[in-house]
Amino acid sequence: MTVIADPDTGAHEPATDLVEPRSLTDADEIGSWAAEIRRLARERDAVVLAHNYQRPEIQDVADHTGDSLALSRIAAASDASTIVFCGVHFMAETAKILAPEKTVLIPDERAGCSLADSISADELRAWKAEHPGAVVVSYVNTTAAVKAETDVCCTSSNAVEVVASIDPDREVLFLPDQFLGAHVRRVTGRENLHVWAGECHVHAGINGAALTAKAQADPDADLFVHPECGCATSALYLAGTGAVPAEQVHILSTGGMLDAAKNTTKASVLVATEVGMLHQLRRANPLVDFRAVNDRASCGYMKMITPGALLRALREGRDEVVVDPATAAAARASVQRMIAIGQPGGGE
Ligand code: SF4
Repeated sequence: MTVIADPDTGAHEPATDLVEPRSLTDADEIGSWAAEIRRLARERDAVVLAHNYQRPEIQDVADHTGDSLALSRIAAASDASTIVFCGVHFMAETAKILAPEKTVLIPDERAGCSLADSISADELRAWKAEHPGAVVVSYVNTTAAVKAETDVCCTSSNAVEVVASIDPDREVLFLPDQFLGAHVRRVTGRENLHVWAGECHVHAGINGAALTAKAQADPDADLFVHPECGCATSALYLAGTGAVPAEQVHILSTGGMLDAAKNTTKASVLVATEVGMLHQLRRANPLVDFRAVNDRASCGYMKMITPGALLRALREGRDEVVVDPATAAAARASVQRMIAIGQPGGGE
C-alpha cells in the first residue's frame, strides 16, 4: 500500500491559504491509493461521492460523480450507512439534510464556498424584514441555516421555472448569486425580483473579455457557459450582436454540460466554469477538444479535498457533518418545495 506520508498535508493548511495542496501523479501510487480507498469504503459501509469540480483522482475513485443536488439525492437513496462527500461544506450539509439518518463525512470540514458565505442567516432575516411578504428563493449554494430561512430553493437548471411559478404580484428575494439572479430577471422580465449581490470568486473571474478573446480565436467552437459566471451576460450579449451565432452559446448547469457534451457535433468547445469540469466532459466525449475559457478558474476550496484527506476521512471517520434537527427540517422543506415545482436538474 502506498504510504501517504502525512494525510494532513494540504488538508490542514489554513483555510484562507488556497494554494494547491498535494496530488498523486504516479500511476502506481494512484492505483495503490485507490485500492486502499475502496477497501476502507467497504469496511466502513460508505459510499464515496465526488463533485464535478474535484481533483481527477478523487472523481475517478468515487462511486458517483455529479453536481451538488444530484449527489445529495444519491446519498439519500443509497443503502450505505455512511456518506463520504468530496465537495464543499454546504454540499455535505445538503446531503445530511436529505439523509438525516446517515453519517455524513467531509474529508476537510474547512472546505467552504465564497458564494455560500456571501449571505448569513442573520443577513437574510434582516433582508426579509425589509420586504415583508416577499418569497425567498435561494440557490442551492447556501448553508443549511440560510436554507432554513428560505421558502423555496432552486438550481441553475430550474431557477427560471421556480421564479416563474411565484405569484407575479409578490416580491421575490433571490440569493445569493447576482449573476444567476440577473439571468433569471432577464429571462422572466420580472421587475419585483430583488437580487442579493453575492458572487463566487472563481466564477466571477471568468469574464467577458476572456470569453470574447477565446471565441474570436475559435469562431466555430460551441460555448458552454455556467450562469453563475461573470461572463453569462457577455455570452448572451455576444450572441445578440451576432459576434457568436446564438446557436453556439449554451447556458447550462454542470449536469446540462455533460448531456450537451455527449451530443455536440463541434470539434471544440469552450467551457466557462471551474476547470475541474473538464475532466468529466473529456470523459463524456473524448473526440471533442474541451478548453477552459479561463485556465486559472480553479476552486481552492474544492481542491482542499486531497487524496490524503479522503484517506484520513475513511480511516478515522472524520470530519462528521452535523446539522441540528430543527434547522435540517426547515431546510429540507425548502428543497422539497423546489422538487415539487419541477425537475431540479443540477445546481453547480
Ligand atoms: S467554485 Fe465558487 S461556488 Fe463553487 S464551491 Fe468554489 S467558491 Fe463555491
